[in-house]
Amino acid sequence: MIVFFAFISDFDVLLSKYAKNENHRMLITHSIIPSLIIIILGHIIDWPALYISGYGYSIHVLLDTLDWGTNLFYFQKKQIGPKFLISKEEFENISEYLSKYKNPASFFDEKYYNNKICMVIEVLIFILMILSITLLAFPYILLISIYFPFILFHLYRHFNLKKNES
Ligand SMILES: [Zn+2]
Repeated sequence: MIVFFAFISDFDVLLSKYAKNENHRMLITHSIIPSLIIIILGHIIDWPALYISGYGYSIHVLLDTLDWGTNLFYFQKKQIGPKFLISKEEFENISEYLSKYKNPASFFDEKYYNNKICMVIEVLIFILMILSITLLAFPYILLISIYFPFILFHLYRHFNLKKNES
């Protein structure tokens, strides 16, 4: 349940067409609101698995503020965060930058995969995942298998976008 809550919000990508600029991170699911509700509810009914799930959910949303930002406070309808992967100039003229690509998603994909810090963080989080589940929750070690279809999906998408652009 805790692992599931840490990535469930990304399934809102299926609802992108309802989001501002069709950006799923503008949906309420990528704001801090759902995790606050889950954490408060978890504490009220005193169910540790639920409030820890809420913390997992909130860590996801907070991490999403680092690369492109996310609609953290929802009602502002603004992408909040350090947005390390996009400059102010690019953010303000995003449509101009996106139009240089056959598929606008390639802009974000290229930036992410060409960023060495992001790649190092990916590897470090993978190692941390293996270590933490081995040391803290060994009976759940097979949960790691969920990781592989998702990483393969992202890599497949990345190489496809790259091929199409070239
Ligand atoms: Zn996300």
